[in-house]
Amino acid sequence: MAEVFTLRDLEQWDRVGAGLSPVARLAVCGDPVAHSVSPAMHNAALAACGIEMQYVRLHLRAEELAHAFTILRETGAFLGVNCTIPHKVEALQLVDEVSSQAALLGAVNTVRCQGNRLHGFNTDGPGLQRAVQEQFGMALKGQRILVLGAGGGAGRAVAMFCALEGCRHLTLVNRTHEKTHALAKEIHGLGKGACECTAVEWTEAALADALRETDLLINCTAAGMKAGEASPLPARLLHDRLSVYDTIYTAHQTPLMVEAVAAGARAANGLSMLLHQGAIAFEIWFERPAPVEVMREALVKLGR
Ligand code: NAP
Repeated sequence: MAEVFTLRDLEQWDRVGAGLSPVARLAVCGDPVAHSVSPAMHNAALAACGIEMQYVRLHLRAEELAHAFTILRETGAFLGVNCTIPHKVEALQLVDEVSSQAALLGAVNTVRCQGNRLHGFNTDGPGLQRAVQEQFGMALKGQRILVLGAGGGAGRAVAMFCALEGCRHLTLVNRTHEKTHALAKEIHGLGKGACECTAVEWTEAALADALRETDLLINCTAAGMKAGEASPLPARLLHDRLSVYDTIYTAHQTPLMVEAVAAGARAANGLSMLLHQGAIAFEIWFERPAPVEVMREALVKLGR
């Protein structure tokens, strides 16, 4: 299991890093971070490619991120990092350059450190795209998509990515409805060629109407993540023309997936998105294709 380091370790990285073999040049920063499965996936990829480095965990609190990024920038000790909860939005402000896609998605989950500059990217959107293609043989372009949880961090990025990819219609739904207003406005602001976008309230009647006209339902809520939690939607709203992508990856079969399959729909969990966002980060850091099957196997071995 990859070690967990702290800001204090990062401050003395000359000494701390010197004790590690192979050298640690990649990390995931989060709070909490001990549960992250990214080290297993990336360390398997590094070993398979014969790259003599390791990927570790960095436990950073929100108020520590800016200082940590200064160290990353000034020391050049790391080739790159991933950012997970709660750092993805803050990271956007702290990097020196941000890809236009990450800026529109409103979050950075991958940083490349290069020549004392930090470059921010978002691989969650493209990761989802590859996952949906792999699971359902479906492109996002041209689809009628409903994003449940569009007011959360992942939901916002996923919804904006679907809009940028040219989905036909986008329905934004969030338990706290107000959170989708600004996003709907931004999507309308993308201008000519942007998809039609509607923010609907989380009521059974509104959801029933919207789901009748939906091809792809993407669950970006955290509902169903913990054992014993119910599906975020009443089963009676699901139908057999739906493809249901649940971004939750902590369960093989989430409650939403079980009910979707019972309704005759296709369903997949978020493991493939996790895999592909990691593979795209690897491609950004090393400018070479990622060993996707090795990474997948590492996740499967963890029981994911
Ligand atoms: P977040 O920013 O905290 O957002 C949480 C979202 O879930 C909000 O929209 C929230 O609604 C909603 N929510 C929470 N509990 C709910 C409930 N009981 N009923 C309805 N809605 C509920 O978290 P996040 O980072 O976006 O993560 C959200 C989910 O995406 C998690 O399940 C995570 O595992 C998944 N994710 C997966 C991947 C992947 O690679 N597969 C990557 C990123 C995230 P309110 O706004 O009303 O609170």
